[in-house]
Amino acid sequence: MDCLFCKIVSGDIPSKKIYEDDLIYVFEDIAPTAPIHYLLIPKEHIVSAASINENNSKVIAHIFEIIAQLAEEKGMEEGFRVVNNCGESGGQTVMHLHFHLLSGRQLNWPAG
Ligand code: 5GP
Ligand code: ZN
Repeated sequence: MDCLFCKIVSGDIPSKKIYEDDLIYVFEDIAPTAPIHYLLIPKEHIVSAASINENNSKVIAHIFEIIAQLAEEKGMEEGFRVVNNCGESGGQTVMHLHFHLLSGRQLNWPAG
């Protein structure tokens, strides 16, 4: 399948790995917008948050368990932000479900 993030999971495209298990892969964003900017993705190809259903939603709970674990391990005690862009007008540019984990600076709200 011609999917950038599937190729990152398989190792065909290199990435800076932060964490990996059977279900998910976590790596540094290539264009970070904060001192910490990780992407958390299911290894299974799920297009977007609009494709989450009762058959594939367990991985979402798992992603948030790992977010809490990484927040503790990587020194995000002052706070962090989790972002999911879904669909074209939601700002999604890579059509493989991913969550941005941002930390290490004051993050403004509301975001554009
Ligand atoms: P989106 O805009 O779809 O929510 O987020 C896609 C993210 O993937 C962007 O923040 C972008 O910087 C990141 N990205 C795009 N291509 C690559 C790549 O080849 N490697 C890594 N590590 N990140 C990428
Ligand atoms: Zn994919």
